[in-house]
Amino acid sequence: MILANDLKRQYSLHASEYENKAVDVLRSGWYILGQEVQAFENEWADYIGTDYAVGLASGLDALWISFRLLGVHEGDEVIVSSNAYIACVMGITINGATPVFVEPDVYDNIDADKIEAAITPRTKAILAVHLFGQSCDMTKIMDIAHRHHLYVVEDCAQSHGNSWHGQKVGTFGDVACFSFYPTKGCGAFGDAGCITTNRKDLADAFRVFRNYGSEKKYHNKVVGANSRLDELQAGLLRVKLQYLDEMNGERNRVADYYLEHLRNPLVRLPKVRPGADSSWHQFVVHTENRDALKAYLAEQGIGTMIHYPIPPHLSEAYTYLGKKRGDYPIAEQYADEVLSLPMYNGITKAEQDTVIEAVNAFRI
Ligand SMILES: *Cc1c(COP(=O)(O)O)cnc(C)c1O
Repeated sequence: MILANDLKRQYSLHASEYENKAVDVLRSGWYILGQEVQAFENEWADYIGTDYAVGLASGLDALWISFRLLGVHEGDEVIVSSNAYIACVMGITINGATPVFVEPDVYDNIDADKIEAAITPRTKAILAVHLFGQSCDMTKIMDIAHRHHLYVVEDCAQSHGNSWHGQKVGTFGDVACFSFYPTKGCGAFGDAGCITTNRKDLADAFRVFRNYGSEKKYHNKVVGANSRLDELQAGLLRVKLQYLDEMNGERNRVADYYLEHLRNPLVRLPKVRPGADSSWHQFVVHTENRDALKAYLAEQGIGTMIHYPIPPHLSEAYTYLGKKRGDYPIAEQYADEVLSLPMYNGITKAEQDTVIEAVNAFRI
């Protein structure tokens, strides 16, 4: 049995370090907004290459609070890939703003050449989602944003440590959103998130907003939220961050091995955008026979996942947007043809060989 993902493998590699850290935090008697959070924020900002990082409770919080603090609200439009995770769109719509979908290119992320046609007088921001550990074309996106005076928010939930022309994603926009959901690159052991930014005003605003809008206890400046990263997760994330580059390196070797050995004319392999490197959050193949391939692999004990089966514009939550099948044909096609093969730290060569042999032998 080969799982689509197996988080125990990476945990067991450094189990005693995680366990020691957990015990330290438990014994410290301090569980919210303390030394671990502060240290993690500094280490994460250093790692990504921004002046500030602010810990939050989740990636979705990072997204909606970003748009809230940038003043994006009802009547405003935000450009986002039609091939995105639902949380990306919720980050926009929680604030009452309208998502304007732009189709992806062959690298699964937003086609920057189609962005300008989607800009209207109401456009306030571009949300650049770096899906699957791949990078958007940040050169084109930043150029468009500057010429049209738009904010850029990056969604780096699936892109912890990969870069665009040598510069890490999460450093390009006004603010970048990270999720540390357990399956993400630097995954926590529960829910967690953060933002990175070079703007001091924004970093300060996040610190206030995440804690009921207060800087000083019981002195509330704005109506905020409770979106604090806790000490336990921050401490555990500090341990994992030490191994993140190593883990990304391993995922690159796993991806290279797949790319070298997977050969089936029915299956299109993932491509990395020239100029980018990938952290291979997922290894996503495309095939017209996706459901058949998924069932065939399952029969042989090989787990796979679909990222994602329903594009946001067709999701029940967004019926109010009035979109229908056929509005974003590329995203719809991707939803029907994508399949994520087993990709995780600790997968063995023998397991990869089993996957490769099975995929290569697949016929319709
Ligand atoms: C996981 C994810 C999110 C949401 O993060 P949570 O921590 O689960 O709220 C947002 N965007 C993308 C692209 C994600 O993969």
